[in-house]
Amino acid sequence: MTVRYGFSVVLDKFHNVKGGAIEKRFYLKQGGAQKGILLTDEFYQLAESAQFQNLVQETDARWRLVEKAWEMALPPKLLDVHYDAQQEVLFTKLRNDRITLTSCRNSLNGYQKGYCFYCSAPVSLHSGDAQLAEVDHFIPLMTQKALPGINLNGVWNLVLACRECNRGPNGKHAQIPNLELLERLHTRNEYFINSRLPLHEAIENQTGRNEALRKGFLNARWNEAKIGTSQPWKPAANGNIIL
Ligand SMILES: [Zn+2]
Repeated sequence: MTVRYGFSVVLDKFHNVKGGAIEKRFYLKQGGAQKGILLTDEFYQLAESAQFQNLVQETDARWRLVEKAWEMALPPKLLDVHYDAQQEVLFTKLRNDRITLTSCRNSLNGYQKGYCFYCSAPVSLHSGDAQLAEVDHFIPLMTQKALPGINLNGVWNLVLACRECNRGPNGKHAQIPNLELLERLHTRNEYFINSRLPLHEAIENQTGRNEALRKGFLNARWNEAKIGTSQPWKPAANGNIIL
């Protein structure tokens, strides 16, 4: 179908985001005898940006989630996603089998676009880089006792952080982030919900079927987690927040 309708239908769809066409065009279609694609300046600007390599990895991670759902003959919405902290991968379970889906880091980057969730310092997705992003539990695992039955390893609670924010001298460690950061987490989760990816269903399953429920869920967990703790945490150097 892609081959047959590629020029008439499929190529146009890539510029559609959230039900409408975006203004920037990364390529133009050429019809006539010599069918082809003309890459625009916007595409080359994208290729020159520091985040281009991250984009490739993220697209790959998205694709693998969808492909895995097809392979398992499941509609993507039934794909339940879990996180393995040791291997930093997302996985799903089919009957008693555990199936690795994709890198957690690459999947989460869809919202953060190569920046730390907390302080907006640039982070990398490449193993071995000094600025490699770390997968952080927004509500720390240490608070699990106060949150019985809550899956803190759910995608809803995972963000990418720079090393400084995660475990530097003024880092977050097991502290609870402040209210402003909680609101950012809600915005981030809604971004995934609207992206129509398998992660969308995972977050809905874990936190609620509509936005009000999901916001209520986050507020309730935040309040439960911070009982008996000191002041909420925020990053020491608050750079340019771009999220
Ligand atoms: Zn940071």
